[in-house]
Amino acid sequence: MIESLTPTCDSDDCDRPLSAEQRRIVYESPGGTRHVYECDCGAVTVTVHR
Ligand SMILES: [Zn+2]
Repeated sequence: MIESLTPTCDSDDCDRPLSAEQRRIVYESPGGTRHVYECDCGAVTVTVHR
């Protein structure tokens, strides 16, 4: 889990910045709004925005 306004890929050997075009899902959770990104490398990164 990452808390950042400019998320990067969660994969250890990738670390590319993620853009809005790679955002697949946005949903509300008790901890905040979660954004699910799918990187070009195939890794999925979830961020939370309060
Ligand atoms: Zn990646």
